[in-house]
Amino acid sequence: MPENTNREVPTGICWCGCRKEAGIGRFFIQGHDKISEAALITADYDGSIPRLLAKHGYGPDNSVRQAAVDTGAWIECPREGCDYTGAPASVRKHAAKPHPSLGD
Ligand SMILES: [Zn+2]
Ligand SMILES: [Zn+2]
Repeated sequence: MPENTNREVPTGICWCGCRKEAGIGRFFIQGHDKISEAALITADYDGSIPRLLAKHGYGPDNSVRQAAVDTGAWIECPREGCDYTGAPASVRKHAAKPHPSLGD
């Protein structure tokens, strides 16, 4: 959702709802972003990732991984025939490993 990128402003109080100080310019105390993610999935999607994906129109026929690549924030593995996608740092780490399925 690139159009939303600049809408949220960090308030200095942790956005997970713990009401603690996150620090100037920060949304979260370290680790509380992941807690928020898990809490949201529990609260709004019955703890179900498939339900979360389906609610946003993603699933086996509409790749959420491709949608992430389409934003420009994720990239594809440079190896021909490999379908790995992820954040650039993740793909670099992945691409440095052998690809047995490609004959490495
Ligand atoms: Zn928190
Ligand atoms: Zn790969």
